[in-house]
Amino acid sequence: MSCDLCPRRCDVDRHIQRGFCGCDDGMRIARIGLHRYEEPCISGAAGSGAVFFSGCNLRCVFCQNKVLQTGRLGQLFTPEALAQSLLRLQQIGAENINLVTPTPHVNGICRAIDLARDGGLTLPIVYNTNGYLSVETVDKLSEYVDIWLPDFKYHDQRLADRFSSAPHYFETALAAIGRMLEHSGQLSLDEQEHAKKGVLIRHLVLPGCVYDTRDVLSAIGDHFGTDTYLSLMHQFTPQPDGKAPLNRRLTKREYENAVDACLRLGFTRVYIQEERSATFAYTPAFSDEVSVQL
Ligand code: SF4
Repeated sequence: MSCDLCPRRCDVDRHIQRGFCGCDDGMRIARIGLHRYEEPCISGAAGSGAVFFSGCNLRCVFCQNKVLQTGRLGQLFTPEALAQSLLRLQQIGAENINLVTPTPHVNGICRAIDLARDGGLTLPIVYNTNGYLSVETVDKLSEYVDIWLPDFKYHDQRLADRFSSAPHYFETALAAIGRMLEHSGQLSLDEQEHAKKGVLIRHLVLPGCVYDTRDVLSAIGDHFGTDTYLSLMHQFTPQPDGKAPLNRRLTKREYENAVDACLRLGFTRVYIQEERSATFAYTPAFSDEVSVQL
């Protein structure tokens, strides 16, 4: 059966061939553990219960988790084994279950959540995605996901092609995020300011591309309203082989211009990142062995 979990719609049977995302029909996971470097409403006090999946349907040249792009790193998990890990994350006090780059593994994830819920899992499920997924996949996930954490990376298709090899990125992300909002609404927080349900959109400001940040923000305001929760990310870190304009850090002025654009458009629910977040220190180390810190 051909895989159609994401807009690539690779014409491959993953039992016998890998798709663009590098994944076969197994669910490969590179790291499971508490993660404290998300937005405060996601990390909470104890940390988010992060599960880093292997494989990705984008090829972002600036990706901080590039080693996971091939889909070959990490260990194979059955839905049953993943369900046990989710329950263990709950036992050790995770704020939520944070599924990172999960789209190629949606079928196994849904099964694991069913099993974990049968076993007593009550934590909110966070779907931490690059925004490049189909509305059909969002619909399929709607009964499993509480908090959607999508990137909205580009408005300009030339950037999407050049930096992420992502055809029709803007239209795809716009439709997917619109459907997430239909299912779950704007983000709601509890009295401790921890996310419980809804959508938080992330945008990474890229050096030399603040014009595109303005266009992304403007589109979010026009389509979803300025009461949408945003996370304006400052953590772009140049890769050793990065090419202009991605061979340098974001300047203070560029990030300030992005924040100004948010405020001028009328957004008030915006997470702002400190400059010191632009470092690989916030990127977990991945190796061939799965790191299960439970
Ligand atoms: S999830 Fe992977 S195999 Fe399936 S359509 Fe997307 S890129 Fe292709």
